[in-house]
Amino acid sequence: MQSCDICLSSPCKASCPNAPEPPVMGHCKMCNDELRYDYNYFRDTNDDIFCSRECADAFHGITEEEWSSDDIEEGDYYD
Ligand SMILES: [Zn+2]
Ligand SMILES: [Zn+2]
Repeated sequence: MQSCDICLSSPCKASCPNAPEPPVMGHCKMCNDELRYDYNYFRDTNDDIFCSRECADAFHGITEEEWSSDDIEEGDYYD
């Protein structure tokens, strides 16, 4: 195999203009999208990786909620 004139590697390094496309570094644990070298990704404490914060939240079942009055413990009322 002949190495590239620019990066002197074969196959090309990800930073080389001759590289066909950024390498796939993994897949989102939630939606299975490809995680490519040229995009940031999200990692949790279990080393699971995600394409977006939304996917990480969905994977862990995290939702944003409003408090309701039922959440107030009775002992917290003053009268
Ligand atoms: Zn190259
Ligand atoms: Zn995802």
